[in-house]
Amino acid sequence: MAREIDVLVIGGGPGGYPAAIRSAQLGKDVLLVEKENIGGECLNWGCIPSKALVSASGLYHKIAHEAKEMGIEVENATLDTKKLHSWKDGIQKKLVGGVKQLLKANKVDVIMGSARLVETQEVEITSGDEETQIVKAKDIIIATGAALRTFERRGSDRINILSVRDALKMEEIPDSLVVLGDGYVALELATIYSKFGSKVTLIGERKVLLQEIDPQLGRFLKRSMEKLGIDVVMGAVIQDMKTGENGKATVHVRFDGEIHKIEATQIVASDGKEASSDDIGLENLGIETDNHGFISINNKQQTNVPHYYAVGDCTGPPFLAHRATKQGVIAAEVIAGEESEADFRAMPGVVFTDPEIAYAGMTEEEAREEGYEVVTGRAPFSASGRAMTEAETDGFVKVVAEEGTGVILGVQIIGPDASDLISEVSLALEMGAVAEDLAFTVHPHPTLPEMIMEAVGSVRGEAIHVMNRKR
Ligand SMILES: Cc1cc2nc3c(=O)[nH]c(=O)nc-3n(C[C@H](O)[C@H](O)[C@H](O)COP(=O)(O)OP(=O)(O)OC[C@H]3O[C@@H](n4cnc5c(N)ncnc54)[C@H](O)[C@@H]3O)c2cc1C
Repeated sequence: MAREIDVLVIGGGPGGYPAAIRSAQLGKDVLLVEKENIGGECLNWGCIPSKALVSASGLYHKIAHEAKEMGIEVENATLDTKKLHSWKDGIQKKLVGGVKQLLKANKVDVIMGSARLVETQEVEITSGDEETQIVKAKDIIIATGAALRTFERRGSDRINILSVRDALKMEEIPDSLVVLGDGYVALELATIYSKFGSKVTLIGERKVLLQEIDPQLGRFLKRSMEKLGIDVVMGAVIQDMKTGENGKATVHVRFDGEIHKIEATQIVASDGKEASSDDIGLENLGIETDNHGFISINNKQQTNVPHYYAVGDCTGPPFLAHRATKQGVIAAEVIAGEESEADFRAMPGVVFTDPEIAYAGMTEEEAREEGYEVVTGRAPFSASGRAMTEAETDGFVKVVAEEGTGVILGVQIIGPDASDLISEVSLALEMGAVAEDLAFTVHPHPTLPEMIMEAVGSVRGEAIHVMNRKR
């Protein structure tokens, strides 16, 4: 007889495990099925390992540069990549262990195996030992993620092109590295390996960096990456990739109307994501997908088939762990009869480059397209005492507000600790704050968030530490 439960969650990443925990908190009998590793991409081969490398490469680079400026001399700083990776893997293991404990403490049953939708409210689970069982669930949450696209090897003679996963565990820092791609993962990888000492060339197909966030930030970031020594090639079309006589990878790329030859010890391909839900049996239930194969959902995470929900990367972009988690919680609450629904106007995004980039809400261009009369404010980190004491003065905060009402519509930040600063902005957007609210909030001195207050102040023509634009 098939086992019967209330909620079955397929996938144990940052979408699936919070959905399971929240369902259990709401009194449901919950089963989570994971085919590879609890924690999914984020904990095992995404957010966490990459941020460990961002921190380590940042410190390594700081020792050689900013520390010197502060009068701190460290002779011959060296990098032991074996130790680096064991430190990084230790963090990942600790976090995965923590999630497993949380699942257990919340009485979520976990099966390590692969799930496939077979019939209405029936799921077939195949465990590692090929044992198969059928589970009947009142409600099913699909949280199976998306696949990293393998770069189309145009004209390639199958030289060893590293995947993003491989790039996060490279034991040897290559002398030179080509990073193919211009999404946030590519930008982070280029920054990491440049700081570890590789000569990095980033090759992107799009004309402008971070066009989708704000071209102003993209242009600023391009200059910063070039200052770091990264060659940033945009608007590029790859002609072929080969292994040369010298054992080096050779990439022929067309840009600026000419074909250029770029050589490197290693290539990393980071070419975005594609749907990977086609083998979980969506067709058996008639669950609809969009043109790109991602599962279609409404703002309650419901698919077109009653009792089937989908959360996280399997529902399409933006591919962000915190979005997946929020969607997971919403699905669990909707199943339990609560009035939850997604409203992601305040959803933040972060790119862990140097300087960091973070944004929430609308850009100036998006706000104008939506028909708003827009007023903007800007404060550079070069005016921040705290940024100076951290030797990190590159970047600025840009605030987009509605003319007249002062309602904050969006904020874009490029600068030190932008990833932390953005949470204040998300709260402001979530609460429908007006410029006055943020400008009147006393911010402690000397801190980086003061620059948010100053940028908002400049929207009102009342900034103290930056020049207000003539209005
Ligand atoms: C290098 C890198 C860095 C990143 N950095 C960040 C960052 O800084 N911030 C951020 O927000 N996001 C980041 N991301 C993106 C983030 O990892 C994803 O958005 C997030 O993991 C999506 O969560 P998810 O639960 O939807 O899917 P996943 O994390 O992919 O989890 C899906 C899980 O489902 C399992 N699964 C799939 N099919 C089945 C099946 N049939 N049966 C059972 N189990 C199944 C998979 O094994 C997997 O564990 C990064 C990604 C990469 C690659």
